[in-house]
Amino acid sequence: MKIDRLSWPTADILAVVQRYWGFSGLRPLQEQAIRAGLERRDSLVVMPTGGGKSLCYQVPAELAQRTDIVVSPLISLMKDQVDGLRECGYPAGALYSGMSVAAVRETEAEIAAGRYRLVFVAPERLLTPRFLQLIERLQISAFAIDEAHCISHWGHDFRPEYRQLAGIKSRFPQASVHAYTATATERVRADIAEQLRLQNPAVLVGIFDRPNLVYRIVPRVDAQSQVLEALRRHRGEAAIVYCISRKDTEAMAAALQANRLSAAFYHAGMEADERRRTQDAFASEEIDVVAATVAFGMGIDRSDVRCVIHAAMPKSIEHYQQETGRAGRDGLEAECLLLYSAADFLRWESLIEKSAAEADAPDEVIATARGLLEQMRRLCAGVHCRHRRLSEYFGQEYSNPNCEACDVCLNEVEGLADATITAQKILSCVARVGERFGAEHVVDVLLGAKTERVRRWRHEQLTTYGLMKGANRKALSNMVYQLLDDGLLDRTADERPVLLLNDASWEVLRGNRAVRLLQPKTKISKSRFDEESWEGVDRGLFERLRMLRREVAEARRVPAYVLFSDATLRDMARVRPGSAAALLGVRGVGERKLADLGQRFLELIASYCRANSLPLNAATGGRPRR
Ligand code: ADP
Ligand code: ZN
Repeated sequence: MKIDRLSWPTADILAVVQRYWGFSGLRPLQEQAIRAGLERRDSLVVMPTGGGKSLCYQVPAELAQRTDIVVSPLISLMKDQVDGLRECGYPAGALYSGMSVAAVRETEAEIAAGRYRLVFVAPERLLTPRFLQLIERLQISAFAIDEAHCISHWGHDFRPEYRQLAGIKSRFPQASVHAYTATATERVRADIAEQLRLQNPAVLVGIFDRPNLVYRIVPRVDAQSQVLEALRRHRGEAAIVYCISRKDTEAMAAALQANRLSAAFYHAGMEADERRRTQDAFASEEIDVVAATVAFGMGIDRSDVRCVIHAAMPKSIEHYQQETGRAGRDGLEAECLLLYSAADFLRWESLIEKSAAEADAPDEVIATARGLLEQMRRLCAGVHCRHRRLSEYFGQEYSNPNCEACDVCLNEVEGLADATITAQKILSCVARVGERFGAEHVVDVLLGAKTERVRRWRHEQLTTYGLMKGANRKALSNMVYQLLDDGLLDRTADERPVLLLNDASWEVLRGNRAVRLLQPKTKISKSRFDEESWEGVDRGLFERLRMLRREVAEARRVPAYVLFSDATLRDMARVRPGSAAALLGVRGVGERKLADLGQRFLELIASYCRANSLPLNAATGGRPRR
């Protein structure tokens, strides 16, 4: 029976959250977003990835005992959500292409009978006659539009099929529409509200900073060895390595496998079932690392990803935020490493041009893409607190003077000791070759390489020939790119760009300007967050709990994280609950999960504690809070 009323006690909301998900509280803005859903006021909810958007539409439907519709762009995303909800005892279903006829019939019958609280559909299915007829008698109260920025071509992920959603308001005038997105620019927000015809929406914008993520942005010298070095810090943990091209993902996965990491690759060029297999293997903890293009991730709900690496620069800060947002969704510490080079910028520029030409895109769309790319480049080239820069980009102030969670604040960014002299050597070599050659040749001359081109132009006779003999080639060309990034050197916009000196270059050459060049990182410090979130956790017990979780997940054919998150397992390994009541006190353990899994986990904890002479029900005084 649908319950329609205007005011809902907070206690009722919290009771639902505790019963199904075992959370003891709500995050900032979740309550307001839930209330908008309950009161059927249109809303636009902007929260970073991992901020907890799904709870905002899950709670109202259950509390008001009605069926709400969720529009979601990807099948994998829907399936994972439905799996996760069912594990919590929450009635939800999805209709998507590729389901068997029998499964469709069964789901439709459940929907028609009003037995689901949430029904997930793709945008193109929502307004089909068949679906409309199916939900006609349910008198739908609310629609949640997930990834709502897909409706805007100012956004970074425009999907034409989302445009149809403009019809919801006229087709269902009595229903409220709730848009959810992690994209924060003003223009996209305004566009979403306009396209969806939202009426006087509650606009709720969450905090974009993710304090548990440690950001590192370092020049790329040798992608594979830098990635391997980072992954060594996360042995046995989940990690994603983003690459620009399909070929790069395959090469990266091969390199990781050769170094005995359990890794696979993922990109949109693979067969659907092959993609699904990789995704499932990652979800079930069979493999730890996936090297992927941006195609990977939307459907990845694994909340214990401890490391996200960008082997190259993404094309916008929105993409970067979204992809790094897949790290540490359980609120525990995670590392985000970005390896960049000026070459990435050029690569994206030509990709933007190419795809604009192919799609015959309007100038403003191309200009938008270029603007987004330039912002990303500046983030990489700058040496300012990453948390601050990201917050500011998303229009939010950041007051913390030292985040203690980025390479800059952790003091890891090492300047090259004799940067100015090195820069002078490079620049004078550019001058010596007559400003007629690209980076590669300039590096060859500095290294004293015996190439065909050196011989042809008699460049072995230059005073700068061999001036930096013995230097690392990759490190040297990286410095050339850093000079370009900092505007201390120019280059032509041709296909084979030629290095040119500018006024700033001459200032450096005349000794009137000091230069700062960065070295790729070798020293990595531990963040404060890292130590806190392991405080009091028995690592041996944690590993055993993870094994049990994997076992159960495999038997049930569901991803491990839908059973318990890593945060919950760490809490168990910290508290070591000795009774059902104590287990219910652990964050992430709801009634359903207690009844379903409680006994097996309690038994494991008890036997582990017996074998290791550890007391049960440890005091939790020092337990960190989120
Ligand atoms: P989003 O859709 O915004 O990316 P999710 O809805 O998937 O984020 O939530 C991210 C993670 O945060 C999930 O693991 C979820 O279980 C957890 N979470 C959400 N709300 C709460 C809460 N109130 N308390 C604790 N954990 C929460
Ligand atoms: Zn910082």
